[in-house]
Amino acid sequence: MGNDRINSDHNETVYQNDTASTDRSVRAEQANLAQKSVEQTVIVRFGELSLKGKNHAQFEQQMVNNIRARLKDFPALTFIRGHNRLYVQLNGTPFAEVRARLEKIFGLKSFSPAWRVGLAWDDLLKAALQYVDEALQKLPFNDGVAEKTFKVSARRALKSYPYTSQEIPQMLGRELLKRFPALKVDVHNPQFALMVEVRREGIFLYHETYAGGGGFPLGTSGKVLLLLSGGIDSPVAGWYMLRKGITLEAVYFHAPPYTSEQAKQKVIDLAHVLATWGERVKLYIVPFTEIQEAIRDTTKEAYLTTIMRRYMLRIATRIAEREKILALATGESLGQVASQTLESMHTIGAATYLPVLRPLLGFDKTEIIERARAIGTYDISIRPYDDCCVLFTPGAPVTRPKKGDIDLAEERSGMDEAGMIERALSDMEVIVLDRKKPAPRVYGGPVVEERLKELYL
Ligand code: ATP
Ligand code: MG
Repeated sequence: MGNDRINSDHNETVYQNDTASTDRSVRAEQANLAQKSVEQTVIVRFGELSLKGKNHAQFEQQMVNNIRARLKDFPALTFIRGHNRLYVQLNGTPFAEVRARLEKIFGLKSFSPAWRVGLAWDDLLKAALQYVDEALQKLPFNDGVAEKTFKVSARRALKSYPYTSQEIPQMLGRELLKRFPALKVDVHNPQFALMVEVRREGIFLYHETYAGGGGFPLGTSGKVLLLLSGGIDSPVAGWYMLRKGITLEAVYFHAPPYTSEQAKQKVIDLAHVLATWGERVKLYIVPFTEIQEAIRDTTKEAYLTTIMRRYMLRIATRIAEREKILALATGESLGQVASQTLESMHTIGAATYLPVLRPLLGFDKTEIIERARAIGTYDISIRPYDDCCVLFTPGAPVTRPKKGDIDLAEERSGMDEAGMIERALSDMEVIVLDRKKPAPRVYGGPVVEERLKELYL
């Protein structure tokens, strides 16, 4: 609220969608408003950006660009920029459609559908009566009791407005009680809380607030390469990084015929869901069969998983170097499976000099599943097609692999490490998943599935 006050004197800029930012004055907006009396608007509040000190302006600009890009295909929308917020005027666009987009935008803290009305008291009163009338009709009856509880709060960012934030609720409350006999004031736990914000751009009436994506705007925190399997965890790990403003690329290790085309399709579909949040996700599909077979044929069963993961990190490191990516990430969470102990992370992590980020480390499995459901990856992750690791999972893996033992085992295996990595990299497939395009299909349908069964089951 402090910010609101400071900035109530700032000049806000009005943007028209899909044309280059055209400056119009707030006064012109006010004139428009006077003709229309009520403008359907969405108040969009930015998130943690204010913590970013001198980067603030740049982050805010990025935020506005991201929101406009995400709403580009709604040509009727117009945008008015405020400090730490944006007003999206609907001009007939259905709120539900705009809402579905805004919920997925990172850096966006919350948003409220609102009515924007002129500064004249009569306009406000008339609109408030109508607003409450409409809202009350949508409220459920309170256990069959006709009485409905409400309160009015106000915020006055425009200091020249003649009524204070204490006076506005009193004055409006009185009129509302007169007009709607079923209403009763309850300031602590009302069924309906009307908010009135008085600003340069007009007066805003609203009573609902929805959560945005939270975190930081996309594209403000650098790039990370995620090791993406078909499981539940790694897509969630990717989502947490997107939410911090990170641009995501992903790598999947595919080992046909041990892993099916459906498993590959799963990963493509998961990367596509991440792209619906992150605009674009570049996915590298690395052939891993030769490496897996070589490990299986030359090393002790108990070490298979550890050595396999080390190869994944080595290849991921090479991709990261090419793409100027400074960190890798996995879906590991401490203690979840045998390979996810601290010793294991130490020994596997030693295969790369890059930092390995593990955003899920502090989460319980139930929390990860809940998040996977909310972001739309869960149903894909539970499709019954395993990634490359399951067939090679030893009956009794080492849970505390010592780095020295593993180094020695790799050395003695006589594997052509450099050659195998080169071949994997040169046969790698690259797919770019885009929010606006459907995910490509690689799985050819039941015929392929039948053939796989014939061959390998
Ligand atoms: P997930 O649910 O992400 O598959 P998990 O709980 O099954 O994880 P592991 O199988 O131990 O755990 O894998 C740990 C991490 O290693 C995964 O989260 C993922 O980041 C990476 N990983 C495993 N298999 C692959 C693969 N085939 N391709 C790319 N990354 C992989
Ligand atoms: Mg897995």
